[in-house]
Amino acid sequence: MLLLAGVVKTASIAIHGGAGIFPRKQFSDSLKARYTKALHDCLDVGWQVLSAGGSSLDAVQAAIVALEDCPLFNAGKGSVLNEDGRIECDAAMMAGDGRAGAAAGIRTVRNPVLLARKLLDEGRAVFLAGEGAERFARDHALPLVEEDYFITAQRRAELDDARSGSKVALDSIKFGTVGAVARDKEGHLAAATSTGGMSNKLVGRIGDTPVIGAGTFAQDGVCAVSCTGVGEVFIRKVVAHEIAARVRLAGQSLEDAVCEVIYKELPPLGGVGGLIAVGADGSLSTHFNARTMYRAWRKGRGKPVARIF
Ligand code: ASP
Repeated sequence: MLLLAGVVKTASIAIHGGAGIFPRKQFSDSLKARYTKALHDCLDVGWQVLSAGGSSLDAVQAAIVALEDCPLFNAGKGSVLNEDGRIECDAAMMAGDGRAGAAAGIRTVRNPVLLARKLLDEGRAVFLAGEGAERFARDHALPLVEEDYFITAQRRAELDDARSGSKVALDSIKFGTVGAVARDKEGHLAAATSTGGMSNKLVGRIGDTPVIGAGTFAQDGVCAVSCTGVGEVFIRKVVAHEIAARVRLAGQSLEDAVCEVIYKELPPLGGVGGLIAVGADGSLSTHFNARTMYRAWRKGRGKPVARIF
């Protein structure tokens, strides 16, 4: 059944691999090629689900699992480290019908997005953190790993850098948080986001990623949004829900809503970052006020596109 009468059955998907402030001239051709290939591969995993008639929820899940498994990105394997040199992953997922699941402070669940999906499906709680979240994952037989699985030499070096400058680094100076939004052929929307957070973050710090409405939001007939950037500002501006509210209540186009928030609302607060969004009609909007945002998208019969700058 079509969700909205008269709406063309366009499937579309967008993914991001984080916004960053890494200068363009420091990107070697081989680094660009590695990221571009990884983006295409992960996009394709989600697209295959959609083109086979699968749901937007399954498509964003599949794309995020692929991104979490890729050590280039700051989610799952390759996550950044907190001030104690430990892993604390956050993830969230929302379906356009209002179901949601989110988890924070994850150290042993191989794919944090699968924990968010389990919560979404079960419906007993939306948001679990720390020990309770990990117990829920164990009870539901999700694949578990040792904390070392997540940690790469690159992330240890970034933590050392951040410590020497005693700063909390935007994790994606080089690499970033991951996200996906999709619209399936039935017109249902979904969003998911997963991250290791920010390098040298306070122990117990939770960013915008798993906060429904801040880093992740979806509402059928309106839009689905996944954010990346300085989480504290994205929480304070409730960015993902703000985009949806502008579209639903103020009648703004998705593109106008995204541009106003990213380019006008966030910068005065230090809100460096970006987001990807899909509208009820399958239109896609990706904008960022950082130097880079790893991103890729595919819509309808169009070809896949991947961009960094
Ligand atoms: N938004 C994430 C956080 O604050 C970081 C990122 O997007 O890279 O945890």
